Amino acid sequence: MRDFFSDTKTIPTRAMREAILDAPVGDEQKDEDPTTRALCERVAALLGKEAAILLPTGTLCNEIAVNVQTNPGDEVICEESCHLINFETGGPAAISGVMIRTIAGENGIFEPDQLRAAIRPASRYAPKSALLCVEQTANMGGGTIWPLEKLNAVAEIAHSAGLATHMDGARLLNASAATGISPADYAAGFDTVWIDFSKALGTPMGGVLAGSAEFIQEAWRAKQQMGGAMRQSGILAAMCLYGLDHHVDRLSEDHRLAKYLADQIRALPQVAHMQPVETNIIIFDLDDSAPLAADIVAGMKADGVLIGAFGPRRIRIVTHLDVDMPAGEDLLVALKKQL
Ligand SMILES: *Cc1c(COP(=O)(O)O)cnc(C)c1O
Repeated sequence: MRDFFSDTKTIPTRAMREAILDAPVGDEQKDEDPTTRALCERVAALLGKEAAILLPTGTLCNEIAVNVQTNPGDEVICEESCHLINFETGGPAAISGVMIRTIAGENGIFEPDQLRAAIRPASRYAPKSALLCVEQTANMGGGTIWPLEKLNAVAEIAHSAGLATHMDGARLLNASAATGISPADYAAGFDTVWIDFSKALGTPMGGVLAGSAEFIQEAWRAKQQMGGAMRQSGILAAMCLYGLDHHVDRLSEDHRLAKYLADQIRALPQVAHMQPVETNIIIFDLDDSAPLAADIVAGMKADGVLIGAFGPRRIRIVTHLDVDMPAGEDLLVALKKQL
């Protein structure tokens, strides 16, 4: 199978699995796992924060960041296509009792003025605007990159109105690979930020959430409460460290392949619209003359190529560690056959 459905589909390499063998481990809940500690220190430094915590998933990074930085009844502001709203089964409501106020951005990114309008003035009646969340890169926006100035502007607006700021950095390293701007610079205006290891970095699971030492202490309580505290998690941390050492420098290859595929696909007559392709995600809409996306996906699967239907006529393709140029050529042949 040529699997372009998601960068979550990466299979841990043999070398990544071997990295586990000699990793020193201990009881993580007691902070006795040296490999986990090394990973957290490394990610905290990478993201320019005081401390960090390893969690099984990126979803738990988001949920804990919301939980620690809000009170029930508070409002969280984020863009309407974001993961926190659409793919976490209502976690912010169920776990933290918060309301969400959405902003309709363009390709997952909104303007400082839209944020100003969304923040509520202090009132005895209204919910309290407590937390701003942004996604770097914006997944459903098509892997679009928040420009640094805009990130700094929205963080500044949020902070001066008394909100905390959180960055879902599942693909932050993709943004840095594309622009050369460091992850720490992108995260500078944000109180909390995390990166995902199970996407482009190729581990089977794992996210590391970073923030102030005080925040991380509270995050530990939430992690224990939600059942996310582990034991010999150095097994996972060793794979994450391997991913940092070996799978970051190659991210630009994923971006090159995505741009190549995007150029080919954009030229097809049935493609009505394509979101800007800045990193490793391609999202496009087909016109009415094309078959339904679900049928195209099924037809291509029979030819050994997996892609995603994200709407009746919307398709998403993601490049990553396990797909290369020959796989991309197979994708183009299989896609054209369906159109
Ligand atoms: C994948 C993803 C998550 C969740 O990460 P998991 O490790 O799959 O739980 C959160 N936010 C964004 C933008 C994602 O793409």
